[in-house]
Amino acid sequence: MRRLFELLLSWSASRMSMLRECPRRFHYHYIASFGGGRSGAPPESHAAWLAKRYTTVAIEVGSFIHATIANLWQKRIGGGSVDLAREPDAAMEGFVDSVVSILRGVGDRRFLRDVFGPELELAELEEAAISVGNMMRTFFGLPFVRALIANPTPIMTAYLDRDAPEKTHALGFPAYLKTDLVLRLETGIEIIDWKTGRPNPKDVAQAEIYDLYVRRAELLPATKPTRVHIVYLRTGHVDTREFREAERTLALRQAHEGYLRIWDLFGTQNAACLDPALFPPQPGGHCSGCNFQGLCPDSATKQSAAPAAAAIVIEDDF
Ligand code: SF4
Repeated sequence: MRRLFELLLSWSASRMSMLRECPRRFHYHYIASFGGGRSGAPPESHAAWLAKRYTTVAIEVGSFIHATIANLWQKRIGGGSVDLAREPDAAMEGFVDSVVSILRGVGDRRFLRDVFGPELELAELEEAAISVGNMMRTFFGLPFVRALIANPTPIMTAYLDRDAPEKTHALGFPAYLKTDLVLRLETGIEIIDWKTGRPNPKDVAQAEIYDLYVRRAELLPATKPTRVHIVYLRTGHVDTREFREAERTLALRQAHEGYLRIWDLFGTQNAACLDPALFPPQPGGHCSGCNFQGLCPDSATKQSAAPAAAAIVIEDDF
């Protein structure tokens, strides 16, 4: 129970957005599924844990590209070499292997579409694999990437992309943040964020938070410059931002307000604040992308699969 509250009493952009969009989805994702992978977990908790692991082709493309790039930096920092001509095709082949392992049900993972339909078409998977190869070609075509492959010294290893986000208190409250790449150059600190989707206003809001995080963690005075580069790997477009102090202050205030909402929900740290009734379903168009539509009695997609949300039991000792 203490560990669950440790996880819950933290801010992250994705959990705030999930809470805003549908509180019940937040409950399934962060509370009901907790401990559901352990043997002997209650069936409802196990069902939520399994559903949390459903994935989409877009998520797999994004995770695969981020992991491939992060591994490449680790390899260069460790003195390994990188074959620029071979890497994009190797990435494409690696992506196909990972998709095939999901289709085979390795590790209980499944595609959301295979569960709720319409079924995934082979052509979509082929298109995704080709896009992985193309994005890696775009990545290797960026002049600063080539310079870093030749000399990775500017990479600040503490901020390299990891599997799971880091919990930090640099913002003044506990938060989960995951930076992709941070460089220390003579001209200042440069923060790089890889994007595999199309541009979205949320990307800039996220960039402001990364900027704040690195500035605070490095104790940079207001006069020291930082720049954030949002790199869209589908097109090669790089959106470079240098935020003003007023923008940083506003971003921090909004994030802090989010954290206060989290504190209002879970600050008492007792079982009563985990009651699903406190997290009402908010059905809408977003239900078709929700992993829990088979568990949720109010889903706008009216999927029929599963135990009703009211049946989800939260136990004190998991
Ligand atoms: S199916 Fe819809 S209403 Fe139900 S938890 Fe998911 S997003 Fe919320």
